[in-house]
Amino acid sequence: MDEETRDIIRRRLVESLGEGKVLWRAADTVLYRKDTYRIDFEKEYEYIPDFVVLPETAKDVETIVAVASEHKVPLVPKGGGSNRTGMLVPVNGGIVVDTIKMDKVIEMNPQDLEVTVQPGITLKNLEEYLNEHGLTLTQEQGSQRMATVGGAISTSAFSRKNQKHGTIANRVMSLEVMVAGGRTLRTGPKVLYTSTGIGLHHLFVGAEGTLGIITEATLRVEPYPEAREMVLAFFDDFWKANEAAQRLMSSCVTFTGAEAYETEDATVFGAPAGKNGLFYVGFDGTRGEVEAEKVYVSQMIRELGGVIADETHTRAYMDRYTEQWCGARVATRFEDVITAYVPMGSIQEFYDRLWDDVMKRHDLKPIPGEKYSLDVGRYKMVGGRYFLPEDREGWQRYQAALKDVAKLAIELGGSISSCHGVGIQHKENIRLEYTDVALDLMRSIKRALDPDNIMNPGKKLPDE
Ligand SMILES: Cc1cc2nc3c(=O)[nH]c(=O)nc-3n(C[C@H](O)[C@H](O)[C@H](O)COP(=O)(O)OP(=O)(O)OC[C@H]3O[C@@H](n4cnc5c(N)ncnc54)[C@H](O)[C@@H]3O)c2cc1C
Repeated sequence: MDEETRDIIRRRLVESLGEGKVLWRAADTVLYRKDTYRIDFEKEYEYIPDFVVLPETAKDVETIVAVASEHKVPLVPKGGGSNRTGMLVPVNGGIVVDTIKMDKVIEMNPQDLEVTVQPGITLKNLEEYLNEHGLTLTQEQGSQRMATVGGAISTSAFSRKNQKHGTIANRVMSLEVMVAGGRTLRTGPKVLYTSTGIGLHHLFVGAEGTLGIITEATLRVEPYPEAREMVLAFFDDFWKANEAAQRLMSSCVTFTGAEAYETEDATVFGAPAGKNGLFYVGFDGTRGEVEAEKVYVSQMIRELGGVIADETHTRAYMDRYTEQWCGARVATRFEDVITAYVPMGSIQEFYDRLWDDVMKRHDLKPIPGEKYSLDVGRYKMVGGRYFLPEDREGWQRYQAALKDVAKLAIELGGSISSCHGVGIQHKENIRLEYTDVALDLMRSIKRALDPDNIMNPGKKLPDE
């Protein structure tokens, strides 16, 4: 951006929003140069936003989008900054729109189980607000202290309660979105079901800020359950826990979500020594149904040789398991995580080929005790953590491995990314997952809403 345009934009933004909501000095904007994704190591912090703005209202966002549209300047909407795939990197500079101050509940209607919020409210704060009113959003993410409603919708985020309650994608009733030109779009009436119109709100679920900036979301909520319980169990290894997961999926139990994973030391969770496979199943609902399901699942686990944790350890695990991955870990460790979607029947083949072939070939090492994790439910996620190399040659191996992991997941009938979206990380590899016709249609939708490609350019869709 040339100096003259920069000056004009700065004056326009400051006049309309006020000095406190517009940042442009390098010291103030440095933290907006990257997110948790380890972009090409030599280029980290190289992408610099021209401005960071901190809107408080939809009107503020309208002004920002109008100014950016007039000057054809890129806009990068930002929520909590917890995405893992580089969605916030300002690859073409421009204006980062940080929604941190748009964190209010606008309206709540307990009778109709609806809440309308600004996009920058964190999932955790919204959940606490709803709980005080006897309600719950049911969107449980490891990142819920950081992740916002706008970010969760825009990444079509995964919830650990997906088996029973779906994910945030199923909770969106209506959105207000600022699209290019500074036009306000209301996607449809604030109802959960309607057979009128074309479901426009679906377009923005998982759009990664590439179609517009969400300024308001109306979401369907649920009554807070009478009972919430968990069965926590230990197996000899991940594969025995996976067997329990397979059995659970073929039962009729209405669990909220479940996870099987490998852990280096399960004794901290109350396991006897030598049991490295951990398995938990969550339940909620009325007291009677939850108790009955717990008994059924506990019996099933014992039949498969699992050891059930005692009540104290189960409670402790339940209280902390949603927060088990803290943001600090992501910021301080050189690691990455696989979050592929693979059909239940192909999990063993996926892991065998992943660790014994793909990762070995590219010389990428698993983090001890974190090779395997499986989120079980409607939106199953198959994961594993590995160390990232720290040099240029290693970076190229890492990129090649990403492509081979994508090929493997797709060959087995799955998807590259079950919840972390595309961002920059998978941008090229989604060519493997979609036909040219499908990609062309996605580009046409983007062009219709954003003809000058100012909405989070360089993310989500591969270059033409
Ligand atoms: C420790 C950790 C645990 C995690 N656990 C989970 C998990 O359990 N489930 C899961 O799905 N993901 C998880 N993630 C990934 C991440 O938290 C999710 O993708 C999350 O939903 C992103 O929300 P955010 O507010 O941080 O979005 P950001 O990272 O700020 O942005 C993500 C995308 O949304 C867009 N966006 C944000 N706000 C708006 C808006 N108002 N309008 C339009 N576009 C917008 C941005 O442009 C960007 O493309 C985890 C990440 C970490 C670091």
